[in-house]
Amino acid sequence: MANERLKDESVIKHWYDTDDEPITIVEGDDATVYDDEGTAYLDFLSQLYCCNAGHSNEQITAAITKQAERIPYVSSAKHNDTRSRLATDLAEIAPGSLSDVYFAISGSEANETAIQIARTVQDAPTVLTRWQSYHGGTYGAGGLTGDPGTRKTLERRAATTGVGKFLPPLPDAFDAETPEELAEQAANHVEFVLRNEDPDSVAAIVTEPIGGTSGAYPAPPGYFERLREICDKYDVLLVSDEVITGFGRCGEWFGIQTEDVQPDLITFAKGVTSAYAPLAGVIADAWIGEEIRSGSYDLGQTFAGHPISCAAAEAAIEVYRDGLIEQGSQVAPYLESRLRDLEERFDVIDTVRGRGLLWSVVFADPKTNEPFVHPWVDGNANNPVADVRSEAQERGTLFGSGRPDTQVIVAPPLCVTRSEIDEAVNALEAAMTAVFGINE
Ligand code: PMP
Repeated sequence: MANERLKDESVIKHWYDTDDEPITIVEGDDATVYDDEGTAYLDFLSQLYCCNAGHSNEQITAAITKQAERIPYVSSAKHNDTRSRLATDLAEIAPGSLSDVYFAISGSEANETAIQIARTVQDAPTVLTRWQSYHGGTYGAGGLTGDPGTRKTLERRAATTGVGKFLPPLPDAFDAETPEELAEQAANHVEFVLRNEDPDSVAAIVTEPIGGTSGAYPAPPGYFERLREICDKYDVLLVSDEVITGFGRCGEWFGIQTEDVQPDLITFAKGVTSAYAPLAGVIADAWIGEEIRSGSYDLGQTFAGHPISCAAAEAAIEVYRDGLIEQGSQVAPYLESRLRDLEERFDVIDTVRGRGLLWSVVFADPKTNEPFVHPWVDGNANNPVADVRSEAQERGTLFGSGRPDTQVIVAPPLCVTRSEIDEAVNALEAAMTAVFGINE
């Protein structure tokens, strides 16, 4: 009797029931998704910056089916042919001497694994990450995350001990006249923080090569080179969080390659399978792998490197290799030019920034030059940037929100076409006009 009452439809309510999400997505095809009424939307956020190969790619779905028919699961403590082949693929595409692969399930867990590895080989307790960053929401990775919105949610719930924070290389964090000066000031600041933490106690610096959900911000030229020098000088590992920026999102296999800098560890997730199945992991420099293998590190997760996910990743990498990264790189400048045109014409746009197919349109009140609203200051405040996204959705294009929600993130699948870019940017322009009533 009690169970019957609990299952009464009027009582059942779950996390995913929300009144502000009017569409239920049920199908997808390349850069388009469809809701349960058959309405099409251009997916200009690749769901969560992860469906890099677009939706319903037959090569990837066939690989998943084949693996499921052969053997869906093999213990993560045993060898499996698909998993081994994928590890080889990842070692091949990773820059320089990065070659040792450790699988995880989510980006958060990949970052936690990287921290465990860094702390083990360096025998040091501290890691440094930057403000305005996102590295995950689990207990450990939540502590690495430096964006204020997430931190507000995770306050007293994340493992923040052993994590120091430094300022991102953003213009409003420093007083620089040129990008070169900004790079220098921001890198000097990292060195200052490192010295004050006691470099011997610092295992690693963890950073996104291009800030992801915090606003698609690339570093000024020369910043990452200096960061590499600082890491070498103080014997600190450089961890590149490539959860968003990996697998062609920024024009290369990994975002750090657009900076021509060699990290010690890369963490990946999302695009590795084009989000067709959950998979994540760490690629470590060969010497780190050797130390880990010869030591007492003996950890793993049941579903880490799940064969079905590995089959999806193997196929996705083949799709990227067969020209999709190149195709995305070719269309990216067109997306940038269309967004820059909006920036010139709308004074509610503070800045447009990004790289490859990861862009942020950052809004600010032209009267005050301040962001319209920071939701972590007043979660209930009317937020015109959220309205812009809703208006764009009404016009058939989905964009991302990012943290803080003062921006529209633009990150279509790599298979996006110029005409889809036109359609999406036109929808954004019409949405901005509907919300702000201006088009200068
Ligand atoms: N790192 C970065 C840069 C991310 O953007 C994210 C998620 N958006 C994560 C880590 C965490 O990944 P996951 O949600 O798969 O745990």
